[in-house]
Amino acid sequence: MKKQKAKAIIVGGSIAGISCAKALTCAGWDVVVIEKSRAPTTASPTGAGLGLDTLSQKIIQSWLPHPEPFYEVTLPLPIDQNRATDGEKKVNWVLTRDENLNFRVAHWTDLHALIYNTLPREIFLWGHQYISFCISEDKTSVKVKAKDLQTNEIIEVEGDLLVAADGARSSIRQSFLPDTKLRYSGYCAWRGVLEYSGKNLDTMMGFRKAYPDLGRCLYMELAPGTHSTLCELMYERLNWIWYINQPEPQLKGSSVTIKVNSDMISAMHQEAEKIWIPEFARVIKETKDPFINVIYDCDPLKQIGLGQSGVNRRRLLIPQLHTVEEAQTCQY
Ligand SMILES: Cc1cc2nc3c(=O)[nH]c(=O)nc-3n(C[C@H](O)[C@H](O)[C@H](O)COP(=O)(O)OP(=O)(O)OC[C@H]3O[C@@H](n4cnc5c(N)ncnc54)[C@H](O)[C@@H]3O)c2cc1C
Repeated sequence: MKKQKAKAIIVGGSIAGISCAKALTCAGWDVVVIEKSRAPTTASPTGAGLGLDTLSQKIIQSWLPHPEPFYEVTLPLPIDQNRATDGEKKVNWVLTRDENLNFRVAHWTDLHALIYNTLPREIFLWGHQYISFCISEDKTSVKVKAKDLQTNEIIEVEGDLLVAADGARSSIRQSFLPDTKLRYSGYCAWRGVLEYSGKNLDTMMGFRKAYPDLGRCLYMELAPGTHSTLCELMYERLNWIWYINQPEPQLKGSSVTIKVNSDMISAMHQEAEKIWIPEFARVIKETKDPFINVIYDCDPLKQIGLGQSGVNRRRLLIPQLHTVEEAQTCQY
């Protein structure tokens, strides 16, 4: 008998969504991705550096027909260095150094494009906002309603599995797990990528003197009450993240990224000059379009697959493994 393929509906076409789409496609599933952005981003405002540990590297490489593109967009970071800064004396010094980091780092946009380009275009519904889902009475299928943001038309998609890849403040997770609340960590992160190709040459010369392992090191800078991380990315880009303790900002919508105005950026620049060495403060100042991410914590979910019936469970990707603990002991 011809076996019917199982179908997954993935809400969210960012890193998690396209990674799920790839993993499920490789496992023989039909997949549809519902994403509210109009098109895949080529210069995402939320895009910055993403560090990949060895397992992530292995998984992503297994999805590619050739290894070269992976090496073209990711930079190896064998060194991890923690440093302390004295903002008054404008000096910093090494606290710890580890030469076995085995990380690679990519720009969000490059990593997204790398995985996205291996997927068939027709599985993506760009410019569609997920609205709701309902599970069939016998719990063997799920129907998802989404709105085409251009025409306002409501469409319905039916499948066997619904994947909530709609971000940290997932509305699908809230439906299944209304009691699971995110916990504000107490700090937000200013983030930015300085694109220095052919520009900012003085700034970069000074920066490389202050951070001699740039290009192969993930730096963490500690200063009283704050810290930041820094690393280079492929194609002459410098990624920085600066964590700042502050009351929880009020977020609108489902994103954890805040759009900032020029007053906020000027105040941040002034603060950077007080806290960091001048070479780092200058990089921050010359970075276009910095943005803020609000950082939340969440206890690990006890169960990552929910709502499945006996029939449906047989069709899950990893049939007997559906708790976090079990999944962690499984070789993906
Ligand atoms: C400061 C900082 C540093 C980080 N560094 C790293 C790192 O080095 N390595 C790492 O692995 N991770 C890192 N992370 C975490 C990583 O960036 C995020 O966990 C990751 O980007 C989340 O991806 P996601 O696909 O789950 O969610 P998101 O990127 O938030 O994507 C959610 C997607 O769902 C879509 N969506 C939401 N609602 C709807 C709807 N109703 N309908 C349709 N679409 C919808 C959104 O448009 C979006 O595209 C970092 C995070 C922060 C804040």
